[in-house]
Amino acid sequence: MPSNEKPRLIPTGTCWCGCEREVGLGKFFAPGHDKAAEAALIAVKYEGSVPHFLHAHGYGPHHSVSATAVKEGVWIECDECSTKPGYRGTKESVNNHKRKYHPPTTEK
Ligand SMILES: [Zn+2]
Ligand SMILES: [Zn+2]
Repeated sequence: MPSNEKPRLIPTGTCWCGCEREVGLGKFFAPGHDKAAEAALIAVKYEGSVPHFLHAHGYGPHHSVSATAVKEGVWIECDECSTKPGYRGTKESVNNHKRKYHPPTTEK
């Protein structure tokens, strides 16, 4: 679990991207609107520049944000990739990656 404490947020029934659309129970966003909100925030705060966004938080090519995510336990890393480090992402994302790139074989 991530070590940094965050306030507990409660979904309000209205999309948090600010489009004022109603969303289902327990949801913060209409489908895909989480990405839109993320992009809008980066646009507002960092002129749409992801490198500046990363840099502002102390990350970049020499301080890997994806490695940090794995270390903090919020992401996992694929242990089947032949290249190291392996593919990193959420559990769902790595599972999709494994299905695509490491299909089960009968050779082992
Ligand atoms: Zn929205
Ligand atoms: Zn892999």
